[in-house]
Amino acid sequence: MSYQSWFVQHAQKHKIIVEKLLEQEKTEDTIIDYFDFENMVKNEPDFCPLYKDNKKCHEMEELNCYLCACPNFCFKDEGIKKVKKKVQYSFCSIESKDGKQGEYGDKIHQDCSKCRVPHFKNYVTKHFDLDWKKIMQKCSL
Ligand code: SF4
Repeated sequence: MSYQSWFVQHAQKHKIIVEKLLEQEKTEDTIIDYFDFENMVKNEPDFCPLYKDNKKCHEMEELNCYLCACPNFCFKDEGIKKVKKKVQYSFCSIESKDGKQGEYGDKIHQDCSKCRVPHFKNYVTKHFDLDWKKIMQKCSL
């Protein structure tokens, strides 16, 4: 699956959940809490492939799924630039110390496996918008 098709599909899934919560007149804070991992596993099993195994994408006590993927994750399926005969397809716009540029053959992809930045509730609150695509607007290059 390409970055772009994942991005479009995920945006749609996110939108459907938020619209449902707005119909229930949920507040911003309640909407954020609704995206807590434990609640999502129970109530939104299709939102993330890891839910069926009750597995978190990052080892952390309280993980919030509202900002999955990450507003700092920039990608371009056609490739962004050449780096030493390899092609870069994604990078972190804040160069998080817990992220890295992973090399996979002649491809370079951002490796976020050790970074928990977008999953903290206060980070979600700080960057919150009901429109997930608006938060992610600098991701798709
Ligand atoms: S390294 Fe962290 S902050 Fe950077 S894109 Fe990945 S998850 Fe986001």
